[in-house]
Amino acid sequence: SPILTIESTCDETAAAIIDEDGVVLGDCIATQEELHEKFRGVVPEVAARAHLERILPVIDTALKKSGVDPHDLHAIAVADRPGLAGSLLVGVVAAKTLALAWEKPLVAVNHLHAHLYACQLASDVPVYPCIGMVVSGGHTSLYHCTSPLDLEYLGGTIDDAAGEAFDKVAAMLSLGFPGGPAVSKLAAQGDRTAHDYPRSMMHDGKFNFSFSGLKTAVRYSIVGPGQQDFSKLKLSDQAKADVCASFEAAVVDVLVGKSAKAIKQFDCNRLIVGGGVAANGYLREQLADSARSSGFDIIIAPMDLCTDNAIMGAIAWEKIKRGQYASLDLDITPGLQRGF
Ligand code: ATP
Ligand code: MG
Ligand code: FE
Repeated sequence: SPILTIESTCDETAAAIIDEDGVVLGDCIATQEELHEKFRGVVPEVAARAHLERILPVIDTALKKSGVDPHDLHAIAVADRPGLAGSLLVGVVAAKTLALAWEKPLVAVNHLHAHLYACQLASDVPVYPCIGMVVSGGHTSLYHCTSPLDLEYLGGTIDDAAGEAFDKVAAMLSLGFPGGPAVSKLAAQGDRTAHDYPRSMMHDGKFNFSFSGLKTAVRYSIVGPGQQDFSKLKLSDQAKADVCASFEAAVVDVLVGKSAKAIKQFDCNRLIVGGGVAANGYLREQLADSARSSGFDIIIAPMDLCTDNAIMGAIAWEKIKRGQYASLDLDITPGLQRGF
């Protein structure tokens, strides 16, 4: 019998019905982009409220699409970490309530492990062991993964995440939210060498990242130090495209460089990449080139499974196979500690 998976860690409310072979019987995703657009970023309280309104209709729709009777479910899985506290809480409380009402066991899913597991869903053969890179709105992390559930944290961003940097550059150029797709679209028309932005920590010999200096460099290349007002900015489309292209090149260089370094150091022959920024066309291209020239396998999450969704919650089956259920007193772990 299938499981119900619930995802509400940030600004997507999603549910899916997934059988033991990973086949998706039904799913539903409600995005909140239009609610956060005017703030040019996710507003936590707005997100929590929207999850609350949407969670039951979303679960209901996924169930209806699948034709599965809730009483025939094997378990209910929910992402309990990391994420925005208010957002996580809505999913976890919904999952616990339904588990109690329908007398189903509960499974807790780590959202970042799930982002990487999206790569397994795209592959017919086991992708683990491997090096895993999460590039998302809130995280930029490298792991040595010996299984879907056994991940050793190698390093991650010490300030902004890659996706956050895309969103902030988009905000500076008034390109809307989320910024990744818009920046990437403009970048395709730009000159990647127009601005010489920093590749921070690129050669520090470790696996940490920093994107806040890059963000500041982009800002100064647009308005100059001390200036606050972006609204009066009159940049030509070509100038904007050049900023986007040069920014994207700086982010991608670092991600490609560090992931290749991890592959080498851990003598791995496979890299898996998940999270919203993994949808970036230039990153996908450059990772493929790096894999070809260094001779390792690369598996990037399918485009529709890069940003938040409940289908990657199929990782819950890996926990079920190990008998790792959660108890009904499961609490959220917003968990901004490094390593998650
Ligand atoms: P986390 O997973 O760390 O909790 P999140 O769930 O908010 O964060 P995701 O949904 O995985 O993050 O990804 C959203 C991010 O991906 C946003 O910052 C968005 O700008 C970025 N993004 C989406 N598409 C692209 C793209 N084509 N190029 C670059 N960035 C992109
Ligand atoms: Mg989102
Ligand atoms: Fe995410």
